[in-house]
Amino acid sequence: MPARTKLLAVLIPILALLSVAVTADAPAPFTLHDLGNGAWAAIDNPDAKAARAGANAGFVVGDDGVAVVDTFEHAPAAQELLNQIRAKTKLPIRFVVNTHYHIDHVAGNNIFAAAGATVMAQENVRAWEHTENLKFFGAKITPEQKEMVESLGLPSVTYKDGVQIYLGARRLIVRSLPGHTGGDSVVYDPAANVVFCGDLFWDHTLPNLIDASTKPWINSLDTLIADYPTATFVPGHGEVGHVRDVRDFRGYLSDLRNFIAQAQAQGKSGDELMNAVLPQIQQKYGSWNFPGFAKLDTQFTDQELRGQKRIPQPPSQ
Ligand SMILES: [Zn+2]
Repeated sequence: MPARTKLLAVLIPILALLSVAVTADAPAPFTLHDLGNGAWAAIDNPDAKAARAGANAGFVVGDDGVAVVDTFEHAPAAQELLNQIRAKTKLPIRFVVNTHYHIDHVAGNNIFAAAGATVMAQENVRAWEHTENLKFFGAKITPEQKEMVESLGLPSVTYKDGVQIYLGARRLIVRSLPGHTGGDSVVYDPAANVVFCGDLFWDHTLPNLIDASTKPWINSLDTLIADYPTATFVPGHGEVGHVRDVRDFRGYLSDLRNFIAQAQAQGKSGDELMNAVLPQIQQKYGSWNFPGFAKLDTQFTDQELRGQKRIPQPPSQ
């Protein structure tokens, strides 16, 4: 099976799911975690199966409005998030920040935009959302799938390196950091000491490296570790963590690079390289979520270290 097909099998049982409604007796698509001071994490609930959120999100209730970070993989889950925010506050939902372009973080943009929010993201998110998301559906993408991707709500405000959001006197600091796609942001809320990381941080979960540049990613994690040593970290996937968990994730990317570099130095490639690397990943990270990503992570990082990996390119100015 080609890598992309495998990725599809692991990652994207999306389309059937968009039409799944959230019903009262079904498991909730996400669970809300109170992080204090008006900051909340919405953590994907795998038990909801087809109706799950597909990724984590979060929101901050400020003085005069609400900011939301990411909008899930499925519109019904995003609608449920909107309902839950509405149940907590009557303040307007003023902003959505998309941490990156992947469909599991942007599929509810239209729902929040219709509710009055301005959707913001790093400029590459706007450039890639309607194009790069097509690859997750493979060569046999249907017209309906293509139309769905091309109708995803785009950010209407973009930035290059970052932006500050004011909810009254409450300030959120949005920073663009490289590594996962080349257009990722984190949102730091100083009042609650929370960092919403998007997919720059996966908590004890093997990451999706399809667009990754692991070397700058490790540097970005070092920045987060140095700048926010006491913060609560909301990952894109997995449970809410702390700096030690971010360190664990940094360790995974670093180990992965080292395992592969070692095999390459021994002249290994293809199946031989895979057979050398997979047991090492299994031994150290076999208990993490999404263990099925080990093979893809090895393939992508093998390509990356050989300088042969295709990663999305920013549009020419
Ligand atoms: Zn994700």
